[in-house]
Amino acid sequence: MPRIAVVEKEKCNPMGCGGHLCIRLCPVNRTGKDCITEDVDNKVRIAEKLCTGCAICTNRCPFDAISIINLPDELAKQPIHRYGPNGFHLYNLPTPVFGKVIGVLGRNGIGKSTAIKIFAGMLKPNLGKDKDASFDELIDYFKGSEAQGFFEKIKEGKIRVSYKPQQVDAIPKMYNGNVRGLLSKIDEKGKMNEIVSILDLQNVLNTDISDISGGELQRVAIAAAVLKKANVYIFDEPSSYLDIKQRIKVSKFIKSLADENTAVLVVEHDLIILDYMTDMIHIMFGKPGVYGVVSLPKVTRNGINIYMDGYMRDMNMRFRGYSLKFEPRPPVSKEGLLSLTSWENINKKLDNFHLKANQGMIHKKTSVGILGENGIGKTTFAKILAGVLKQDSGEISEKIKVSYKPQYLDSSSEDVVASLLGDAVKKYENQLIKPLDIDSLLLRPINELSGGELQRVSICYCLAKEADLFLLDEPSAYLDVEQRLIVSKVINDVAEQRGCSVLVVDHDLMFVDYLSDELIVFEGVPAKNGEAKGPFEMEHGMNLFLTDLDITMRRDKDSNRPRINKPGSRMDREQKEAKHLYYS
Ligand code: SF4
Ligand code: SF4
Repeated sequence: MPRIAVVEKEKCNPMGCGGHLCIRLCPVNRTGKDCITEDVDNKVRIAEKLCTGCAICTNRCPFDAISIINLPDELAKQPIHRYGPNGFHLYNLPTPVFGKVIGVLGRNGIGKSTAIKIFAGMLKPNLGKDKDASFDELIDYFKGSEAQGFFEKIKEGKIRVSYKPQQVDAIPKMYNGNVRGLLSKIDEKGKMNEIVSILDLQNVLNTDISDISGGELQRVAIAAAVLKKANVYIFDEPSSYLDIKQRIKVSKFIKSLADENTAVLVVEHDLIILDYMTDMIHIMFGKPGVYGVVSLPKVTRNGINIYMDGYMRDMNMRFRGYSLKFEPRPPVSKEGLLSLTSWENINKKLDNFHLKANQGMIHKKTSVGILGENGIGKTTFAKILAGVLKQDSGEISEKIKVSYKPQYLDSSSEDVVASLLGDAVKKYENQLIKPLDIDSLLLRPINELSGGELQRVSICYCLAKEADLFLLDEPSAYLDVEQRLIVSKVINDVAEQRGCSVLVVDHDLMFVDYLSDELIVFEGVPAKNGEAKGPFEMEHGMNLFLTDLDITMRRDKDSNRPRINKPGSRMDREQKEAKHLYYS
């Protein structure tokens, strides 16, 4: 088996481990050879050829900085790229195909950005060596695959790539001025007005880039990418910050870009959107920060089912120790269920926005999802129920203990994660700390965490409290696909084992579907008024919600996950006729 040794330099802390602990412990070093040595940066370097794979260094490094991986024989060939000796390895690349939308599915840190940078011409692959590979070497590396033809076209100068980056919040730091100014500067196709109208950006054209919301910024970034003349368009996480209505709209638009002269590649963590938008997907698996492998392309439906299953038959490889199951939830019988809290005639005015919630009740031991557009009062309602905000009028019946995770997380504290979580680290080791992968974050200061890390810590902090109701506002934001599936399972397990109720506001439909027994649906006009309706049983709530979106959904017959029907397909027409827009 080929073996790779990776040192995650940002984790390696030779002072913290008492002075290069791994160098002192390595049995090969003890025989006088230089297997682990001090590198020029004072961190360590491992000679793969000398390493016996004993795993002493990986087990004893207190910062989890070393990985020694025995790769399956299928990966005996060289990586497409390696970030220096003992750096991250990437095997294979996803391949854009003309006329198709190709998706990339995998967790963060597994090499998606590396792959995209290679296509965008921002990174020259090195085939694991210490110099850039030539086009001829790359063509040879991909001989016999779709990628061979693609790299031949790159060599001939026939590929022009336009790329929508993942981090749209960096745009205001790079550009001063209003949306119109930015887009007109980029508009190589002379289609600014058309694209602005498709993406609903008319109202923000004269607004300064630094003053628009996350969802608007995402759509501006998509417009900017599309206005460039290119024949390969790459979208890295186009659904972040968007509500479901906008996700569907953007998906339809991205789908429409693919034609015989145009290829589209999309990285996306919202599985329903990925499923809806793409024709085929590549699965990426491996170990974040250590190595990533890109699978051969698969028809999207099969690919997502394989991903959830965690086993790649064609490579005979289990990349996750367990399957992620999408069990059908039977409709909840309200008979015998006790009320936890209820509300009546809630009204709240915030500047020009008016929130209304006529009447509703949350039962004990019930999970309720909240769906609705951005700016329609979901968070305001959640804050009123949590007691963070006071309503202008109306009644909330019971005083209950609520544990609330806000949408925007406070990242200013210099405290380390362990001091925030306190007793929970031991008390909920198996229920929260391990599944949410908090162990490796315990000694990190809160103000140094990434968005996804901070989200996991905040979810853990919320669920570790004693409460009758856990109220989580957008828990899937910043999380990759794997983390979303795990978080939804953790929330479910906590609710079940502790007999509490859960209220979840989110835009990832699969996440909400997986978690919820009932639904509250928000209707109204964003930024003007919003009304909370429900809770309804799932089927009724989803029917109401989907009517507004003009889509229908079915369940996948193998994995039972929800899928959007192709518009105009037989199932779409039949479900619309029967007014049965969603199958529970
Ligand atoms: Fe210490 Fe771990 Fe770095 Fe080795 S890899 S020097 S044990 S922190
Ligand atoms: Fe040394 Fe390799 Fe064992 Fe680590 S796994 S201690 S590098 S022989």
